[in-house]
Amino acid sequence: MNKIIRSDTNEYAEIAFELSLGDKRENLWYRVKPEHGQYLCDDRADSFIVTFFAFAMERGLNLRSAYPVSQKLWYQLTTQVMPQLAVTSKGLGQEIEIFAEKVTEPYPGSRGVGTGMSCGVDSFATLYEYTELCDLPEYRLTHLTHFNVGAHHGQTGSFDAELQRRLYQKDVAMVQKFCDTYGYQLVAVDSNLTEVLDRFWGYVPFSATHTYRNVGTVLLLQKLFSKYYYSPAYNLDHFICKLGEDTAAYEKYLLPNLCTETTSFYNSNRSWTREEKLKRIAEFPQSYDWLKVCVKSDTNCCKCVKCMRTILGLEAIGKTHLYARAFDPQTVADSRERLKTYMLCQVKKGDLLHKEIYEEAIKNGMTFSARSKAYAAMYRLSLKVLPRKLYVKIKKRSLNHTLQVDVNELFTQASEQRRSELRKQARK
Ligand SMILES: [Zn+2]
Repeated sequence: MNKIIRSDTNEYAEIAFELSLGDKRENLWYRVKPEHGQYLCDDRADSFIVTFFAFAMERGLNLRSAYPVSQKLWYQLTTQVMPQLAVTSKGLGQEIEIFAEKVTEPYPGSRGVGTGMSCGVDSFATLYEYTELCDLPEYRLTHLTHFNVGAHHGQTGSFDAELQRRLYQKDVAMVQKFCDTYGYQLVAVDSNLTEVLDRFWGYVPFSATHTYRNVGTVLLLQKLFSKYYYSPAYNLDHFICKLGEDTAAYEKYLLPNLCTETTSFYNSNRSWTREEKLKRIAEFPQSYDWLKVCVKSDTNCCKCVKCMRTILGLEAIGKTHLYARAFDPQTVADSRERLKTYMLCQVKKGDLLHKEIYEEAIKNGMTFSARSKAYAAMYRLSLKVLPRKLYVKIKKRSLNHTLQVDVNELFTQASEQRRSELRKQARK
């Protein structure tokens, strides 16, 4: 990284990193509202180092910065994280050098406490935990954030700049409306990070680097944040520490090592599972009208993987009625039987997330029709005996036909990969 350029316009305050990789040159920019320009850190490389850390290790590239890095961060990355990742990721990455001057001075006056807000289950569970459920004033949330650094991929399994921007703009507008309604301060950060990554290395899945990208963006705002919460997808019983894996699987080890003299990172949500998070947010009325989990549309479509899983999760604890404005009650009523069949199929396949929902549902007295059970049994059989390619073909058609849901995204490269990881874990 050669240069940090700060510029302000009437519409935004911008910080740009002038990057070079071999003979490639890129300008990586981040933009915030003009009133948040005061929080941007344009004198340190912390954000750049963390954002590109895993990419650099995987590709054996040294990171070099003309600007200093926080000493604590440099120490933790080079002596704690890097040597371990090099051991656990055998063949996937290697130790690299991080060349930069060190600074030990914290930024003065950083008192903000933040977390990401997407209006999803994780966001609401964290918002509830660190507002109404938090007795420690220093740990209560003061700001919510929304970053455009890769989460708006639309589960297409490939990079689509236009789709990404459209999804971000819709989401950030919705989150802003939510924050205005309840009086939260939102710090939104737009960025061209995904475009820059795509030009450097082609399509890179978000799941393998999301923690680095999000934390890297928070480190741009160290003048604001003293604490930042990140909601975890996994507990330590699913600990897998390896480059290329979902960073959520080793976040509890990684996050404390991404702290600087100024900003500390923590996982939120204790050890709550997905169902436990749903139970908590069902106690939190702010989530009722605003819960948005859809990966396909700007309102919940009720048909994509995430919508279906969330509806089933709410059905399992008998709380769907609270979310009548988030999930159209008629659509839910019409598809209830099909959703239950879909869940049985997922359970037969060994999907851990659906297994958790299923167990909760059984505990609360959910029943299944003979037709659903028969379909799931058939599905299980076809899973066992059919060759993989033929099975995928049939499954695509039969699920679409029988369940009348849009399951095409189930077959993207990224979701296939994720599912095979889950299956691996289930077998262990
Ligand atoms: Zn959806």
